[in-house]
Amino acid sequence: MGLPEHIDEWVKDNRSQLLEFLSELVRTPSVVSPPLAGELECQRIVEAAYRRSGSEVDVFSPSEVPGLREHPLYFDTWDGAPRPLEDRPDVVGVFRGAGGGRSLLLSTHVDTVPMGSQPWREADPFSGEVKDGKLYGRGSWDTKWGIAVGLFAVRCLREIGAPLRGDVILESVVDEEYGGSHGVLASRLRGYNVDFAINSEPTSMTVAPAHRGGGEWRITVRGDAGMAFGDRRLANSVYKLARVVDAIREFDVERNRDPRPPRFFESDPELPSYTMQVGGGGDSYADASGIPHECYLIAWIEEYPGTDREEHTRRFTGFVNSYLERDPGFDGVYPEYTPTIRYLPGSSVDPSHPFFGALESAFRGAGREYRLGAAPFAADTYVFNLHSPTPAVTLGPGGGNAHAADEHVLVEDVVDLVRIYARVVLGWCG
Ligand SMILES: [Zn+2]
Repeated sequence: MGLPEHIDEWVKDNRSQLLEFLSELVRTPSVVSPPLAGELECQRIVEAAYRRSGSEVDVFSPSEVPGLREHPLYFDTWDGAPRPLEDRPDVVGVFRGAGGGRSLLLSTHVDTVPMGSQPWREADPFSGEVKDGKLYGRGSWDTKWGIAVGLFAVRCLREIGAPLRGDVILESVVDEEYGGSHGVLASRLRGYNVDFAINSEPTSMTVAPAHRGGGEWRITVRGDAGMAFGDRRLANSVYKLARVVDAIREFDVERNRDPRPPRFFESDPELPSYTMQVGGGGDSYADASGIPHECYLIAWIEEYPGTDREEHTRRFTGFVNSYLERDPGFDGVYPEYTPTIRYLPGSSVDPSHPFFGALESAFRGAGREYRLGAAPFAADTYVFNLHSPTPAVTLGPGGGNAHAADEHVLVEDVVDLVRIYARVVLGWCG
């Protein structure tokens, strides 16, 4: 029996242990819900699992890593409030090779968004329950599977006695959701830079050399408050906000009229703009005694790789302002634009890099279709590609309902990714 058959047999024998570990991670909340963040308990489980598997373990808080606070990506607020970085440790596990081989890093963010306000119908948000080939729970797809898959792929190779020359590094990082990036950045600044990295995100088995980015904005408009009682005509901030909504809708239509997607985005060329929240005038009936002095909305505007913060800001706010220029209600006073998080650029990596050859043979060896494409969402992969010497690809299993009720990951994809990652580590680092 050759090594590939040993891999498959080991994965078969350890399948229930793999799912149980992923389920344990899902059952242990690591929710980020501004202004609070709580990855600590889940990271303790990851730390213990890395230690049990015989890796050198490094646990550190991003805030204590030299250079983080001075880094151009450092952005210590979310929507203007302080973003906590204490008690949110990154966990890194290093498996040393015999020497002389290429190194690989498997990076996964452990934090999740909250359970949300919609009802969960299929399973409890923190159950980790398996039903009809799906493992349910917050973080199951986005992205705790990556912690389990990385660990089991390396354990598999060690337990079947596969010889590795290069180092394999696993990392479970904090502070990805709500545009964090500090967890993955801190690990780069601490020196965990290798020949290639896979960043875990839910790509439905598409190998993504490119991913989108975007900017998130709080847009505020102001006017008069109260009621006029006949003395004058009031400037109404609600009407102004409605015009801003119109402007964003027009921006969305206009820029997608003739899309010129870069490579890998051809099959999904549209750039979405999401108006995610609107507000003003309080939220109790008692507040509804006149028009509100100010209204706001929060919008997330996606961009292709290659668009930087300045270009994004100029294009988006420029379009909205010129749309409002024609509106007498604004009278030359434009909305106030405040970024809620740092701009998250898209990024891409050269698909002719030899790592893609290793990935392709791993997919084929595991009997899965090898498909290159783009990740149609923002991801911290850009931190690798634009701010570190380590190139990275985005990859993950199929599933559904990320950031929504009934989030789940496909069990077969998770199991196959262990078979694929074990093969890719062997091919790349062996
Ligand atoms: Zn997410």
